[in-house]
Amino acid sequence: MTGNEIESNCLLKDSDSKEISVIQNKDDNDGTLDNHKNGSAVDILQPRKGFWGRAWEVDIKTYIGLTLMLIFCPIAPLYFYIACDGYGGDLLGPFWGNSTSNVTAGQQFLDNIPRWSWTALGIYSAWITSQLLISFLPDVLHYVVPFYVGGVQEGAVTPAGKVNKYNINGLQAWILTHSLWFANAYGFGLFPPTIIFDYFGPMLWVVNVVGYLLAIFAYVKGRFFPTDPDDCKFSGNFLYDFSMGIEFNPRIGKWFDFKIFFNGRPGIVAWTLINLSFAAYQVEAYGYVSNSMVLLNVLHAIYVVDFFWNETWYLKTLDICHDHFGWYLAWGDCVWLPYMYTLQGLYLAYNPVDLHIAVLIVIAVLGVVGYYVFRSANHQKDHFRKERERSKIWGKSPDFIKCWYLSSDGVRHDSALLTSGWWGVCRHANYTGDLLGCLAYCLCCGFGHLLPYFYFIYMLILLVNRIYRDEHRCQNKYGHFWTEYTQTVRYRLIPGIY
Ligand code: NDP
Repeated sequence: MTGNEIESNCLLKDSDSKEISVIQNKDDNDGTLDNHKNGSAVDILQPRKGFWGRAWEVDIKTYIGLTLMLIFCPIAPLYFYIACDGYGGDLLGPFWGNSTSNVTAGQQFLDNIPRWSWTALGIYSAWITSQLLISFLPDVLHYVVPFYVGGVQEGAVTPAGKVNKYNINGLQAWILTHSLWFANAYGFGLFPPTIIFDYFGPMLWVVNVVGYLLAIFAYVKGRFFPTDPDDCKFSGNFLYDFSMGIEFNPRIGKWFDFKIFFNGRPGIVAWTLINLSFAAYQVEAYGYVSNSMVLLNVLHAIYVVDFFWNETWYLKTLDICHDHFGWYLAWGDCVWLPYMYTLQGLYLAYNPVDLHIAVLIVIAVLGVVGYYVFRSANHQKDHFRKERERSKIWGKSPDFIKCWYLSSDGVRHDSALLTSGWWGVCRHANYTGDLLGCLAYCLCCGFGHLLPYFYFIYMLILLVNRIYRDEHRCQNKYGHFWTEYTQTVRYRLIPGIY
């Protein structure tokens, strides 16, 4: 029997004895690329050996998309900053110009472009150095905080069949960094708490330089001295390999992991610090902090602390299990994340919105509900993957599809796809919750301008794109098991609609 022939129909049983019929095919372990190039029916049926992680195939659409991304992504944060700083958050302001000025709109725009600043470079260098030092500290928090999972933890199985170890200490780093921030703001006074706001424009140049240098370094490292050659991918297209990365988990030494550090530290730790600096600016400029700014700070802080509390879970997310480390993650973590995720705070710094108490409560409830759906969906999957039949999903034994996949070393790994709880409602309920939260952040800014809503639009595009990337990956990884899952849980994001 050849590897692509269907061997049998079989019935699988889950713990609630619900029978799930699947077509089982047998793989002869030669699941090479050649077997799968033609997009035949066999492609859909057979889990592919080690065939997940970022895409292998690059076509003209990918090429055009990447070129647009490389050109427009760096412009977007600059444009939004200028729109806030020079035009009070009016997205079209740079085109029209300020009518009170007697210079042309074009000249005004040029005048509003932030300038390079060596001080900003100094601040950023101090910031990255401090985060590097903090990241090497062993985690003590998991010894003293009940239920917190930190310290040395294992990541997911990579396509090459490896399991990396990580020093999980993000929550400790977040607490330490913010304690130092408050100690400085209300004690030492080495620098003003508005420092990030004050240098936000010039810092944009610095982070872009760092982001691009990091992406170039990641490309060169991937080509010439990869941490793990078996987990590298080459598409044969320079632009694609540069943008989407070659190495899966680049590291220096045993513990410095590029993905974990750059996403977590200059990215997510900075998020809440930037928000605090915007709030400090409101005090300086207007003498008070608006209730919208307080709510935004709180909702963002919940999301950020949740991320670090669940940093071990993050090791099993797409960033770690799917994406390779290239420009997309390197530049994204250095520039896009700190600048675009804090856009509402920047907008509120220039436009303090005082929300009616009833509106404030509605937005807060939306934010908390969104967070609840996001967290409980993620928790259900995590809990189920650890406990399987023993887990309780909404108080009941789980429904699931038993499945397996092959890593590129030919080893078969058993797995399971949950079909009850949130994962029975739709295939990406965690994204639905995330999007509700994002909408709440944007609503904090009122309806004066469209600019702060860009974040919601962006997240919608990001997560829908992620759905397609993830499902493509899962189809390759699980073959007919994934098809069975999509037939059991028919909707992706909103039951009955999409
Ligand atoms: P998921 O956490 O949804 O992970 C997808 C993976 O989960 C799949 O590849 C598959 O992996 C596994 N899986 C899928 N369906 C099932 C199922 N029914 N049962 C068991 N396992 C399943 O996606 P992400 O990693 O993209 O996102 C994680 C969280 O991060 C989300 O809540 C998302 O909203 C958030 N996020 C936030 C972003 C932001 O910028 N704020 C950006 C991206 C994500 P496997 O190979 O293990 O089977």
